[in-house]
Amino acid sequence: MAEREHVRVAVVGSGFGGLGAAVRLRREGITDFVVLERADSVGGTWRDNSYPGCACDVPSHLYSFSFAPNPDWPRTFSGQPHIRAYLEHVADTFGLRPHIRLNHEVRMMRWDTEELRWEIETAGGDFTADVVVSATGPLSDPKMPDVPGLDTFPGKVFHSARWDHDYDLRGKRVAVIGTGASAIQIVPAVAGDVARLTLFQRTPPWVLPRTDRAISGLERWLHRQLPFTRAARRGLLWGIRELQVGAFTKHPNQLGFIEALAKKNMARAIKDPKLRAELTPDYRIGCKRILLSSEYYPALARPDVDLVASGLKEVRGSVLVAADGTETEVDAVIFSTGFHVTDMPIADRVVGAEGHTLAEAWKDGMQSLRGATAAGFPNWMTIIGPNTGLGNSSMILMIESQLNYMADYVRQLNVLGGRVALAARPSAVHTWNRRVQARMERTVWNTGGCTSWYLDANGRNTTVWPGTTGEFRRETRAVDLGEYEIQRVGKRLPAQASAAKPAATAATAATAEAARTAEGSAA
Ligand code: NAP
Repeated sequence: MAEREHVRVAVVGSGFGGLGAAVRLRREGITDFVVLERADSVGGTWRDNSYPGCACDVPSHLYSFSFAPNPDWPRTFSGQPHIRAYLEHVADTFGLRPHIRLNHEVRMMRWDTEELRWEIETAGGDFTADVVVSATGPLSDPKMPDVPGLDTFPGKVFHSARWDHDYDLRGKRVAVIGTGASAIQIVPAVAGDVARLTLFQRTPPWVLPRTDRAISGLERWLHRQLPFTRAARRGLLWGIRELQVGAFTKHPNQLGFIEALAKKNMARAIKDPKLRAELTPDYRIGCKRILLSSEYYPALARPDVDLVASGLKEVRGSVLVAADGTETEVDAVIFSTGFHVTDMPIADRVVGAEGHTLAEAWKDGMQSLRGATAAGFPNWMTIIGPNTGLGNSSMILMIESQLNYMADYVRQLNVLGGRVALAARPSAVHTWNRRVQARMERTVWNTGGCTSWYLDANGRNTTVWPGTTGEFRRETRAVDLGEYEIQRVGKRLPAQASAAKPAATAATAATAEAARTAEGSAA
């Protein structure tokens, strides 16, 4: 490796997770850190997703950092430009710019078992770091389905998360593939501008109205002058969502009432019984993410918008062929087909203590300890890790819980002192996941009769947290050192020793365990 800078912490990504981590590190008195960002500006998924109509379906007063309140949110549900501007503002106000390294895509991170630190190769230079906080997020790498013949398509093709603003859709015949949270915002935003819009729907979503409105000048004034009004607003938004969790996690049968509301929402706009039938889901509401839109169904009722109630199967020149045989000729195809969530590409770029990648370690499914650390990857943690996603509330709440955990992790390392690493014990990872998966059994995500991106290739739900955000906050308040092996330079983990020498004896392991216990008590 060439000349490299050493830092206490390397944060990867500058979305909500990465910027939040940076603020939190500074608040902990740690200034020796960098934020490695692959793009040329901050913002993460809120920078990359700039499609027409892009907005958040969680109210802004809840979808923002508790430590960076914004009394001036202009609407109850903010659009992407405001959220992106908010993140830029956070980077400025909290003095994060000197730490941020733009155009520094991480190519590889390798754990050095001798020096107990991470070697990091990036597009902008190399680093070593005592700790890596990977905040690349689950919605960062777009997923394109493998459609035979797509390479023969003569027109324009792009993914919703990589919108080509130079391409003029006006007057074009456009296909939108997918009916997730992104597509239902794109369809009403472009319908009417394009000559004809065809939506390819493999599975209909449940859609509830979105009660978006401008936040009045008086409300904003109150939020500025009397901060408790803003806090009360946030508290109310949070509390309502906490109360809903039980229906998703324990009593999915209670969700029938919400299905009735969603059907009413559809019936208001869709008068054609055939179209209504095609748009009606056959699985329990909440199994897939519930979508919020008051414009989606009215857009589908337009005469210049067609629904193909079938997935895209094949492309023959400029003709799109659906699984049911429907053929549609178009000029442009917009894939709203989601992200690599359970197979995140960053996992291929992390090589742990035993010389294999995180992707290899997770080949049977993602597994972590408290959504943060992984067995075999000392001093590495992820923000929005496995089973930290939410079906109904603000991810910022979960991110802040993970930041608490990160802060305590670094604090513990400081207290232990010297060149030290914490390595998640496989038994602790196993226990945590067994508990999470046991709670998952009754949830609507597992029992609702759908497939979704919450489930991995083995059908296991490794993305959603099966509880309230309050519970997760308590579970991540502090690092339990009993769940970790403490490593010091020159002293090796039993797991590593056995990896190097398969015939390692129980005595070897016991010696290492004794060393660990001694260090633990010394702390
Ligand atoms: P998504 O929810 O993963 O949806 C992908 C869609 O593509 C699904 O409807 C899927 O159908 C469809 N699809 C895949 N291959 C297809 C094919 N060959 N033919 C037809 N359809 C196909 O992706 P997303 O809409 O980008 O949303 C991802 C996540 O981003 C959301 O769940 C949410 O967490 C976040 N998001 C949030 C907001 C917000 O307001 N906060 C807005 C946008 C996105 P199946 O359902 O049959 O698999």
